[in-house]
Amino acid sequence: MTKSVDAPEVLEEIELRGVELLTNPLYNKGTAFTEEERDDLGLWGLLPPHVDNIHGQINRAYQAFEMEPSDLEKYIFLRNLQDHNEVLFYRLLMEHIPEMMPIIYTPVVGEACQKFSHIFRQRRGIFVSYPDRHRIPEILNNVPCRKVRVIVVTDGERILGLGDQGTDGMGIPIGKLSLYSLCGGIDPATTLPIILDVGTDNEERLEDPLYIGWRNRRIRDQRYDDFVEEFVENVVAKFPGVLLQWEDFANRNARRLLERYRDRLCTFNDDIQGTAAVAVAAIMSALKVSSMQEADQNYVIFGAGSAGIGIAELLETSLMHKGLSRTQARERIWLVDRYGLIHSETPDLQEVQRPYARDLGKLSFGGEARTELGLLEVVRGARAGVLIGCSGQGNAFHQDVVEAMAANCERPIIFPLSNPNACCEGEPAQILAWSGGRALVATGSPFGPVSLDSGISSIEIGQCNNCYIFPGVGLGVIASGATRVTDAMFMKAAIALSELSPALSRPGASLLPALSDIRAVSNKIAFSVGMEAVKSGLSDPAIDSEEALSARLEKTMWYPRYKRFKFRSS
Ligand code: NAD
Repeated sequence: MTKSVDAPEVLEEIELRGVELLTNPLYNKGTAFTEEERDDLGLWGLLPPHVDNIHGQINRAYQAFEMEPSDLEKYIFLRNLQDHNEVLFYRLLMEHIPEMMPIIYTPVVGEACQKFSHIFRQRRGIFVSYPDRHRIPEILNNVPCRKVRVIVVTDGERILGLGDQGTDGMGIPIGKLSLYSLCGGIDPATTLPIILDVGTDNEERLEDPLYIGWRNRRIRDQRYDDFVEEFVENVVAKFPGVLLQWEDFANRNARRLLERYRDRLCTFNDDIQGTAAVAVAAIMSALKVSSMQEADQNYVIFGAGSAGIGIAELLETSLMHKGLSRTQARERIWLVDRYGLIHSETPDLQEVQRPYARDLGKLSFGGEARTELGLLEVVRGARAGVLIGCSGQGNAFHQDVVEAMAANCERPIIFPLSNPNACCEGEPAQILAWSGGRALVATGSPFGPVSLDSGISSIEIGQCNNCYIFPGVGLGVIASGATRVTDAMFMKAAIALSELSPALSRPGASLLPALSDIRAVSNKIAFSVGMEAVKSGLSDPAIDSEEALSARLEKTMWYPRYKRFKFRSS
């Protein structure tokens, strides 16, 4: 459904010429400007004489990429290319998605954020710093793009599993928006990465003379809330209808901000809702592969933070679609956190955890006398068929836990989702070895295939990457003109993704589609999300049929392709 690469060039009249044109990454074509354009746009002498095409440029850029000696330098190279020529950047990425996605996003973006102040070359997006709070309207007015449609914002407090990175967390909104354009075909000219710089409690940053952020401890409480409120009010006034994605906020703020704003603008939190959708999609696919019934299973979620609770909530909805009552659905879901099984007397029980808290007195397996029940006891006692890890605790799925899962059912579903690799709850090769090759595994970070039976068969490990969900959701929201992002849209996205699982038709295949198919996947998800917007009355009234939505999707989906430029004097 995506547009063909070699469609005829579109002619665009522009008011840029000379160096000003060459330094604008949205318009710059570098050596691919034709002689006619060089005449018209005042480019003679500013470029080498050879006129190239995009294929030659991609080859050259790929060679240069390969010559970079480390992943971090590859990241710097790609970011530099993005800041000079966006079409070439995205075309290069599109031709090498599996190789380059881990560079522009997890895991390498994590290292890039840790060193962001040291590798900082050029601005991208906007920096909204607490001391400048009275200037927010002015800051938004300075945004060069007038038709912003997607914003990704972070305050840098919980960057991946790496904690507080302060302003250096800006690497995350930049990376996420690159994935919006790469995977979901969102025009990069309409995207805006934002860092809310409210200080940092990271001592290393505060003491680093090269740190580019506001050198102050994090402001919290009412001052924080007032600042975020000021920001959101101004964003809505300046860019009405914009889709605003909250990203990598600490647990203490992530849920609160989502609840506060979800009915006031078009917004969602990817760590909660996007993670839930991709995990539930992979669970649904794995259940189909294993011929187990969703409503009959018990689900253990290890790590009941933003991601874990998001997954629990979407699972609950999914189980209710299968005919269970809300109470029955919640009884199928077991949360295990740092104090073991979450129950009504767990210390510091959060409101969002409470619906899943167990009454120890009613447990059929030994809870009465003890308040701490560990993962192994829960897996055994609940007879779990599905185990999800989002605790950030590396190798927490010990051999006895995996063996207990394998004793519970024929094809245990085990997803260690924590990132980066060092935080992953279990190595796929070990999980497969300990389960006699029977486990169905997906991970948060990328892992290579695992060979079994002395190399006779090979199992692909699907990566439960949020990039399968949020670009498609964003595309569907924008194309349908939806005014809100609802949980039902994420449920539809999960169902659409689960139907595309290669494991449904090929034994040993990944539970999730190949990253090289990501644009087609996003398109399918966008269609489901857009139809949900239509059904719930949230869409643009002009989108009143499947055909109208398909046509709008086709029109909205951007493809990185050079245009032919002609100068227009103002
Ligand atoms: P979070 O801080 O909100 O939650 C982490 C939870 O783990 C907390 O409730 C914490 O108490 C719990 N925990 C800590 N130590 C524990 C222990 N020893 N045993 C059990 N639980 C323990 O963070 P989050 O946003 O939920 O992310 C958690 C992890 O999931 C991160 O590593 C993140 O990278 C990963 N994640 C993966 C994906 C994905 O694969 N698509 C998406 C989002 C998050």
